Amino acid sequence: MELKIKDLYKSYDHGKTYAINDVSADFTPGIYGILGPNGAGKSTMFGMLTDNLRPDKGSITADGEDIYKMGADYRAKIGYMPQQQSLYEAFTAEKFLWYMAALKGMNRKDAREQIENLLEVVNLKEERYKKLKYFSGGMKQRILLAQALLNDPEILILDEPTAGMDPEERIRIRNFISGCAKDKIVLLATHVVADVENMAREILLIKNGKIVRRDTPQKFLAEL
Ligand code: ADP
Ligand code: ADP
Repeated sequence: MELKIKDLYKSYDHGKTYAINDVSADFTPGIYGILGPNGAGKSTMFGMLTDNLRPDKGSITADGEDIYKMGADYRAKIGYMPQQQSLYEAFTAEKFLWYMAALKGMNRKDAREQIENLLEVVNLKEERYKKLKYFSGGMKQRILLAQALLNDPEILILDEPTAGMDPEERIRIRNFISGCAKDKIVLLATHVVADVENMAREILLIKNGKIVRRDTPQKFLAEL
């Protein structure tokens, strides 16, 4: 899979300012750390990559095809882990995964298999019948990561996956992400450089809607 962003612009005020301002970038499978201060444009970028927002200008293609023309075929290839606001609090962990599997159009057999596997992988088997409103911050992050992995997406978009986690849990989730990232394009937004310094192929720094730097973690950290 090759994901290609070309000459992308997105404005919320009819072109007075651009939240994404002339961004181009290519990604092949691997983990990419997306760093940037609040307001840099990370959520806007992710919104366009998940087909929740449309650009004003420019294109995003997956293996040469326009993602907005692909529509549902593209959305079936992506897994998205949002920030925590949008959790279905009244659902149990397992019910939440079933619901997300249905939204992704998975059949019951695949859903059952993958839900069992993912509950195991994120270590939530024992909490499967617990409602999400009783989950800790770290448990919520783990169930959100599990739903992003349903249907084995080729592109995985993770918005601050370690937010709300204690140090031990951060390490566990990092190991899990690097383990499941084979053959996937993983875009991981974080404020915590340690989240990506060991596992990212490259780090992209976004400021004021532009990619101002793109480097290996080694080079990136050497000049920080
Ligand atoms: P973060 O920095 O964690 O991505 P923000 O606080 O920037 O979160 O944004 C939270 C939500 O508010 C997002 O859905 C975003 O689209 C929306 N938002 C951010 N800035 C504005 C704004 N100036 N006007 C209206 N909505 C906004
Ligand atoms: P980040 O995720 O890096 O914090 P955002 O993409 O949320 O950045 O925001 C980029 C810029 O776009 C900010 O100036 C923010 O205020 C603005 N913005 C984001 N969402 C909205 C929105 N829904 N309406 C108006 N402005 C927005």
